Amino acid sequence: MEKVLLHICCGVCASYCIQELKRQGFYVEGIFFNPNIHPRDEYLRRKQTAKFVASINGIALVEDTYDSSNWLKLCGRHNKDKEGGLRCCLCYELRLRAVFEASKEKNFDYFTTTLTVSPHKKNSTIFEIAKTVGGSRFLVIDFKKNDGFKKTIALAKKESLYRQNYCGCEFSKKTIEKGTGNES
Ligand code: SF4
Repeated sequence: MEKVLLHICCGVCASYCIQELKRQGFYVEGIFFNPNIHPRDEYLRRKQTAKFVASINGIALVEDTYDSSNWLKLCGRHNKDKEGGLRCCLCYELRLRAVFEASKEKNFDYFTTTLTVSPHKKNSTIFEIAKTVGGSRFLVIDFKKNDGFKKTIALAKKESLYRQNYCGCEFSKKTIEKGTGNES
């Protein structure tokens, strides 16, 4: 059975993606690597939800370190970018690179990400970055397909999961507070 390391951005997005990968016949483990999430309490809350989702779906979850200062050094100077701009590309790349490295260390055949289930994220951008980072080790899956997001929300409601209302970083949080951003 081929092994996939799944980058999990949050518990809500994880449930459908885990089930879909299993349905496609993969052995799945998750990794929670999201130093973009602000503030720390929110990071811990999303991580807790991801752990719960991993456990009810019977998969192991690796937790990486929360190095938010490194994330800020890389992405912070693009604080004025709109969601989907250069800041987000750098944010995807940082996270996907870490997941790619972990997939090599752990001898996984592939890595992929729950990010593609979000209707607010452009999959062609994510695919391009992931392939640049990890080449053929990146498993190209569009989790939005076949009503993926609708199924994700249905599963989240069924399990009463915590659902955040912003993407993750302090800049996306501010746009929600101002009423100009995308709810996650
Ligand atoms: S809006 Fe989301 S993807 Fe973009 S930089 Fe912030 S956390 Fe990362």
